[in-house]
Amino acid sequence: MRFMSWGLRLAASAFLMSAAAISHAAPATASANAAPNTGNISGFSGCQPVVTVRALPLTFTEDNSGDVRTVTALNRKSSLPLTQRSFGLGSTYAESRVTVGWRKDAQGCPALDLEVGYQKTTVHVASELLENQCAFDHVRQHEMTHIAIYRRWLQESPARLGAVFKERFNTLAALEPQRRNQETVRLALEEFGKVRAQHDEFDSDVEYAHNQAVCGRFIPKMLDRLEKEGKLP
Ligand SMILES: [Zn+2]
Repeated sequence: MRFMSWGLRLAASAFLMSAAAISHAAPATASANAAPNTGNISGFSGCQPVVTVRALPLTFTEDNSGDVRTVTALNRKSSLPLTQRSFGLGSTYAESRVTVGWRKDAQGCPALDLEVGYQKTTVHVASELLENQCAFDHVRQHEMTHIAIYRRWLQESPARLGAVFKERFNTLAALEPQRRNQETVRLALEEFGKVRAQHDEFDSDVEYAHNQAVCGRFIPKMLDRLEKEGKLP
């Protein structure tokens, strides 16, 4: 791509355990940086919408060094609507990144290149869980499901975003370049961010009730113990 206009959206999918209620993750902010002006697209009647979407492969790192206090703080920083009684046992952090490039093709027609992906993707499992393999594996598996949701979403993104932007192509192409970039980034982040609903659906009450029960109720027992020891945030 010749130039880039890009935007980021912070997202975290967390394994949150509360004594009573379940918390859900929510998207934080989106930002758009305008790229340099690449010239006006004018007189493009007769051109067909050309949209190319590339999805970057998802890679992630794992970090099990932080305790419940640390993982909870991570989740709170990610704008998760935690109650005071919610604690993070696991967290999958990912930043959406959208790169937008408007250009002219060989015929002088406008063409849109999009690239989507996640960066800084990290799976955290609280270090206290390392003392119980069953519970550790369970929480890690929960986070791996979030990773799988992101992966599938990425694979589907070229088709989904391609359709969205073909539909809006002419409206966008007619905009003044800086606005066009900003609007394209905004729309791409909005569409790409719709994966949120799938994470929320997975983090259901049923899933969390199950999490309380597994491994001989190790997780709620561990939280009780940590609370007595004054080790909860
Ligand atoms: Zn979750």
